[in-house]
Amino acid sequence: CGIVGYVGDRPAWPIVVEGLRRLEYRGYDSAGVAVLGPESGLQLRKTVGRVLGLLHDADCPAPNGSAGLGHTRWATHGRPSEANAHPHTDCTGQIAVAHNGIVENHAELRADLRSKGHSFKSETDTEVISHLIEDAMSHGLGLPAAMLQLSGHVQGPQAIVAVHDGDDDSLCALKLGNAGGVAVAHHDGQGIVSSDLPALLPIVGRRGHLPVGFLEDGEVAIVTRQGIAFLDRTGRRVEKPMLNVDLDD
Ligand code: GLU
Repeated sequence: CGIVGYVGDRPAWPIVVEGLRRLEYRGYDSAGVAVLGPESGLQLRKTVGRVLGLLHDADCPAPNGSAGLGHTRWATHGRPSEANAHPHTDCTGQIAVAHNGIVENHAELRADLRSKGHSFKSETDTEVISHLIEDAMSHGLGLPAAMLQLSGHVQGPQAIVAVHDGDDDSLCALKLGNAGGVAVAHHDGQGIVSSDLPALLPIVGRRGHLPVGFLEDGEVAIVTRQGIAFLDRTGRRVEKPMLNVDLDD
């Protein structure tokens, strides 16, 4: 299980796929990517098995856009299948979510969301997250505030990255509890989020230094082409010490 999110001046697809390939050592059963383009909206590609399976459909042109996120899944709820592979979307198809962890109270959240009219496309615990974000945004919240609200609803340690079709200039990441690492970096007009350092390399080339921030419990990162803003659990902006990391191919 691994997550990669990218926003920047370059096409997101090859950078996200390369990032996922660099997380393959963590183990997984399926993979998927969502790319957000200015005109094309959210484009999803999913596969069961190897990350390179995402590249096999020669008839299908690479998704176009400079924001995107991807996931390698280690199934906990719902068998490994394309429908259950992340990213997961909401009812409107405008929100895409990649998630590491387990939503422990997913059954009651799903029942509650169903009673509000939400319909589900997968058997995963993760899909409640995209619908909870949709619900919060339908009440006027922006994506970062909707992400912050998740902490009051979902139980268990989680790392979550999300994009929204209304804004192809940013992505948001959230860490709850002692979920695995969420590393965030910015370099030369590009922002990136990942579960682990090797997946950050594609934004610097073959080697280089990168200042990296690591999310803590309850924190959100808003990642844009211009830079990164870190928010604490109350939504207040915080300065985060960045660790200078030496990345090498
Ligand atoms: N619980 C989620 C699922 O089964 C995420 C698993 C993961 O961390 O890869 O889809």
